[in-house]
Amino acid sequence: MNARKTLHSDIQHHAEDHHRAFDVAIKMSYQSMLQLATFISQQEEWNQILLTGKKALEQTGNSNKIKAMQARQALLNKLQPAWEKMNQAFQVRQLHYHLAPDNMSFLRVHKPDLFGDKMEHLQCAVVDTNAERRPQFGFETGKIYSGLKGVAPIWAKDPESQQKVYVGAVEVGTSFDQMLPVLANNFDFDAAVFLSKPYLEARMQKEYLQARFNRYPDAPYYLEASSTTTKITQQVFNQITINQSFNAPEAHVVQNGQKFLSSAYFPLYDYQGSKKADSTPAGFILIWSDVSDMVLAFRSTFAMNILYGILGFIIIELCLIWALRKEHQLVKAEHSATIDSLTGLFNRRYYDMIFQRELSRIERTKEPLSLIICDIDKFKNFNDFYGHTAGDDCLKRVAQTLEQQAKRSCDVVARYGGEEFAIILPSTDLEAAVIIAENMREAVFGLNMTMDQPLEKHPLTVSLGVACSHNLEPGVSLFELADQHLYSAKSAGRNRTQSD
Ligand code: GH3
Ligand code: MG
Ligand code: MG
Repeated sequence: MNARKTLHSDIQHHAEDHHRAFDVAIKMSYQSMLQLATFISQQEEWNQILLTGKKALEQTGNSNKIKAMQARQALLNKLQPAWEKMNQAFQVRQLHYHLAPDNMSFLRVHKPDLFGDKMEHLQCAVVDTNAERRPQFGFETGKIYSGLKGVAPIWAKDPESQQKVYVGAVEVGTSFDQMLPVLANNFDFDAAVFLSKPYLEARMQKEYLQARFNRYPDAPYYLEASSTTTKITQQVFNQITINQSFNAPEAHVVQNGQKFLSSAYFPLYDYQGSKKADSTPAGFILIWSDVSDMVLAFRSTFAMNILYGILGFIIIELCLIWALRKEHQLVKAEHSATIDSLTGLFNRRYYDMIFQRELSRIERTKEPLSLIICDIDKFKNFNDFYGHTAGDDCLKRVAQTLEQQAKRSCDVVARYGGEEFAIILPSTDLEAAVIIAENMREAVFGLNMTMDQPLEKHPLTVSLGVACSHNLEPGVSLFELADQHLYSAKSAGRNRTQSD
């Protein structure tokens, strides 16, 4: 995300830099056109010829018309060498004299056969120059084409009155066609100028307009000029969507074959539009530059980030799996350390631990602690008769049965060893322990085991010895007493509970 953000802002800054460079370049174009116009406007000899032509036109009669023609021709001849130089060195494409006060075209050096017209609605820079007698510059579209122009006022000394009189204005213009390649040569970006159809329709002569839109009559914009081929320009243009309001247009990455280009556009205002707020732009400038390096660097960072992400994920998963297995092993180990695998009862180890704990506890609390020792009667015979597997099965059933009778969570029923069980009953007096022992004995007796030989031959019974800590005699431990009672139960004929 960060890499993407950085790429986005880098591209945006790139586009903003190019926008500024373009602004500087267009201002420099205006300045050089204005300087040339100013230079021409200061050539007194040429101005005198212009004044002669102007005066002739202000009078009637054929001889005056001829005089005007001669003046026009003389001016053209004088200007020719300068025009050629300006054309080559400064890419000047228009050199146009207009007379004051009616702004009539006197001489187009670039098109000498066309004169005498007034295009006041199109030649606003000229109109303003003649009205204010101050230089003007800007971009304007005329009947035939669009230009970046500078216009300078012309004064001349009237030979009759010896007074300085205002004659008119000279307009020097170049086109974007000339400017853009120079720009592209000096900067690392390309630029194209698109003019809007409504703007051109309001200015250009129909035939010239049609010539421009003949291939795409419904196109909203016409490609006026580009620093590179029309094909590449069209490819970039096709990948962007022009927001008509030109509100803070953002730079976008577009593709041209294998290349990634950052493109941005901004509005172009003509001479009149740039003087007014809220005017509609004449068109827009599209600029783009190769940002393949940036995009490819971003892509490899992005790919590496994803790779690191996946690797990280796998490592974390592996760690988790390992940890879970370890945990599982621990639980298993803990389980096997405390549980008897055949019967599922607590094992001898656990019994010893709990019994010791309970003995220490009653030393403090003086509460009664009872212990039952239970032994299956004549189990050897059972095994011998039914087999060891049936014996194991029987052990499990007896274990379950004993467990069911010791219902409290603090009671511990353990397999003491072989077919012998020990039941620890905390906070239980002898009387209650005897009841539990008797329940156990009866429950085992009541087991209706399925056997392939009748059970009567080897009935499944248990003998139990019960002792309570409150009924101990000196020198005899709780276990010894319970064991003695068990022995007594066996001696007394088995299938019984002995507690005294
Ligand atoms: P009594 O206690 O009534 O005096 O007679 P007994 O036959 O039960 O006593 P003894 O201690 O002589 O025999 C215990 C028998 O229990 C020996 C063995 O065959 C059997 N036994 C001990 N542990 C297991 C066991 O895990 N599985 C099976 N199937 N039998 C066991
Ligand atoms: Mg036994
Ligand atoms: Mg035994």
